[in-house]
Amino acid sequence: MAIPALPNRKAGRVETLREAARLKRESMQPDLRRERWIPPDKYGRPQDPTSWATPGDGFWGRFFINMWDAWGDPYWWPGANAWECASGAILVQNTTWNSASKTILSLCEAGYNDAESLLAAPVETVEQTIRSVGYYRAKTRKLRELAAWWIANSADTGGVDDISDDDLRAQLLNIWGIGPETADDILVYCFGRPWFVVDAYAIRLRQRLTGSDLKLSYDQLQQEVHAELPRDYMLLHQLHGLVDKLCGYVCQKKPSCEVCPILELCEYGKGRQ
Ligand code: SF4
Repeated sequence: MAIPALPNRKAGRVETLREAARLKRESMQPDLRRERWIPPDKYGRPQDPTSWATPGDGFWGRFFINMWDAWGDPYWWPGANAWECASGAILVQNTTWNSASKTILSLCEAGYNDAESLLAAPVETVEQTIRSVGYYRAKTRKLRELAAWWIANSADTGGVDDISDDDLRAQLLNIWGIGPETADDILVYCFGRPWFVVDAYAIRLRQRLTGSDLKLSYDQLQQEVHAELPRDYMLLHQLHGLVDKLCGYVCQKKPSCEVCPILELCEYGKGRQ
């Protein structure tokens, strides 16, 4: 299944009012060109992406509510089905989502759009198909290791439904080439498990919001979020999407605080006014 590429965006600071207006308009629109897989609950019932547990008024709760009120559903994570989301979580390592999504499209066009076909394909063919995404040999091996686990556990047909959240995470971390961020991406966006996905964006954003130089580790930030918010799958699913969308569009390396919807919550942003 084809995943359209994300729109190209000019990196860097917003320099003109016209650019700021366009950015604001664009960032507030859901990107309907992307397909989005939302895992059903354990009874096979579809889940509502706009229904989540009340986040409360703590630090991350206020961030979530302010972002949701401003931008709404971030339409994250792109992918037509669970396997596509999982392979995207590997392909996006050390590269951009734009590059990863083009590579998923290449895999689909080559006919390798599920774990079975990918594992059955010649290694060299997969390597050449994903070559443009970088680290293609390592990523081919990771995809194959994940595909073998996927098939052995019947992951497409509910085979992991009875595995506890902690055990499922441990199994994923045991697969060669899968670290905490990739495992948590797969847990949330493929299997509907309640984990907060930490990434470099989230760590930098927390530093800016708090006005602190302290750079939390992956585990520290994940524990902070889990301690504050309800362990609700859809809340954590959408929270990660909102973080990535804000940091991808506005809170970039050079932040565009003048169009930021959470300026009043941000120590760094307020200090620049
Ligand atoms: S106010 Fe500026 S630094 Fe703070 S979150 Fe928004 S864009 Fe980032």
